[in-house]
Amino acid sequence: TEIKVWKEFDKSRLYMADLESGLHFLLRVELAMHKALEGAELKTFKDFVTISAKLFPGRQPVVKLLETLQEWLVSLPLDKIPYDAILDLVNNKMRISGIFLPRKVQWVGCQGSRPELRGYSCSLWKLFHTLTVQAALRPKALLNTGLEDSPQIVLQVMRRYIQHFFGCKACAQHFEEMAKESMDSVKSLDQAVLWLWEKHNVVNNRLAGDLTEDPKFPKVQWPTPDICPACHEEIKGLHSWNEEQVLQFLKSHYSSENLLYQYTQ
Ligand code: FAD
Repeated sequence: TEIKVWKEFDKSRLYMADLESGLHFLLRVELAMHKALEGAELKTFKDFVTISAKLFPGRQPVVKLLETLQEWLVSLPLDKIPYDAILDLVNNKMRISGIFLPRKVQWVGCQGSRPELRGYSCSLWKLFHTLTVQAALRPKALLNTGLEDSPQIVLQVMRRYIQHFFGCKACAQHFEEMAKESMDSVKSLDQAVLWLWEKHNVVNNRLAGDLTEDPKFPKVQWPTPDICPACHEEIKGLHSWNEEQVLQFLKSHYSSENLLYQYTQ
């Protein structure tokens, strides 16, 4: 087995290596569990690729790959697509422009102190936080894509993605319960950003002290006061969030300006 050298990183920044590794894992590992895509799965994958092509704040070759994948999926008259055909496109058809996605995962802000900890599930959260924030920063980006014009669209695609593809079935069930309960109440793109933040904290709270917790990365209510002091308030001795400040913080944390390209391949 390979010996991994610990990579120093700044937890107040977002690392493109995590987001690209997440996409790599999603397209080459998670999707590969399905021999072919059809029906609701195919629709979900198409919609995921569409929102990613429009909103992923990526490097040009990665965005180009996502756009090519999207055009190809939209133009195919098939109602069933073999996974091998998708893999072929991801691996080969785009090679002309040089590297576009890493050939292996490289976790940075998502590295775990043991290989089975963190990694992909961490990157999937970061990817969807990034997509909800990008949608709020660029509200017109999804117009004319054939997707429903709704402030919930990114969350709804995430919901379906998790439901159909996320390897952790218990996670998918928990997430679906939260979605059923309150996703409908999201009425603006800003609320969508805050909804995902709040639900992620619910998950953090539930998993604190769990076996799946990385001792080096304890589950906390996020963002902690050291990275966002203004997010925290005390009212009559009780902790409360300043949601306006949280929204501002999320919009800056998950923006292109906060991305670092260190460790990308
Ligand atoms: P993660 O929780 O993965 O967070 C990744 C990073 O996101 C953090 O390092 C931080 O930078 C940032 N972050 C943290 N909190 C927030 C927030 N509130 N808002 C915005 N950004 C934040 N595991 C289970 O065992 N049971 C489950 O039911 C379960 N459900 C899941 C549901 C979904 C949709 C997903 C994507 C994952 C789920 N997981 C579940 C996995 C679990 O949530 C963690 O991803 C995993 O334990 C790795 O944790 P982590 O320490 O890397 O932090």
